Amino acid sequence: EAKKQGKNTVAFYTSELNIQVENRLSMETRLHKALSRGEFSLHYQPQISLNTGSIIGMEALLRWKTGSDGFVSPAQFIPVLEETGLILEVGEWVLHEACNQSVAWEKNGLKDLRVSVNISALQFMRSDLDVTVQHVLQQSGLDPRKLCLELTESMIMIDSSRTMEKLESLTSLGITLSLDDFGTGYSSLEYLGRLPIHELKIDQSFVRRMSNTKNDAAVVNTIIAMGHGLGMDLVAEGVESKEQLDYLYEKQCGIIQGFLFSKPLPATDFAVFCSEWGPENVLLMMKQ
Ligand code: C2E
Ligand code: MG
Ligand code: MG
Ligand code: MG
Repeated sequence: EAKKQGKNTVAFYTSELNIQVENRLSMETRLHKALSRGEFSLHYQPQISLNTGSIIGMEALLRWKTGSDGFVSPAQFIPVLEETGLILEVGEWVLHEACNQSVAWEKNGLKDLRVSVNISALQFMRSDLDVTVQHVLQQSGLDPRKLCLELTESMIMIDSSRTMEKLESLTSLGITLSLDDFGTGYSSLEYLGRLPIHELKIDQSFVRRMSNTKNDAAVVNTIIAMGHGLGMDLVAEGVESKEQLDYLYEKQCGIIQGFLFSKPLPATDFAVFCSEWGPENVLLMMKQ
């Protein structure tokens, strides 16, 4: 009986594994064709200033819509893009698309918005990211001050002398740099203070837990205080509740991004959101 069960269990796992490998392979194949088929798009999530109440910009987030399965979660396909190296080509497309869209919006009267673009480790490791970014800025005509690149702690912790050079050549283009998912890596404070980074994005895991867990609230306070001390802007991502908003306002976190204000939106919906947004909306959102 036990032996029989064991056999079944093995059979079950084997077929499960096959399905995973098959999915993975077919995903890889489908991702290869996705760019030329126009299956990628960007959604834009607004970032709101708590000082002025206005929209200061948006994060561009990659979306993949397949003919058969609809939208596939970035958590599923971005690792595959990274492992296969396809992220280099797709990442360049993302940069072009985000900058072109920003220029188009500006021409249509959506002024003073900054677009943030996620950069993967592989893109950052390439020595010519600065050349790519410069090319994209030239081609699109976007004011460099309106482009922000989101990097992560882990990619800037490797090989510090080369990293410093890379960051400096990027900032010399006039763009801004942000550290995404901040607090989950192991940045040394001394090193962080020397880097030409303009902004810290507090990882959403801390934001999610800070109302319930003292430690997470302490981490959020510390990141905000440290960022201010280093002259950086602070962005909280994953803000979903009024309580979280109130807390971050009290701690003087300057910029808020999260479902409380808006989910990431397709380009046309984002423009509508902007046209309907008023700075007083922030006050209305706050707890009385
Ligand atoms: P990220 O850069 O940290 O982006 C923030 C993620 O949090 C997004 O997930 C966004 O939809 C989600 N989010 C925003 N506000 C809330 C909220 O209030 N609640 C919750 N639960 N989630 C919220 P998304 O779009 O699924 O992207 C996941 C990750 O995929 C991104 O994390 C980023 O690391 C990566 N990614 C997305 N687009 C690109 C891209 O163009 N290039 C690269 N290299 N990576 C990308
Ligand atoms: Mg990001
Ligand atoms: Mg993030
Ligand atoms: Mg994240």
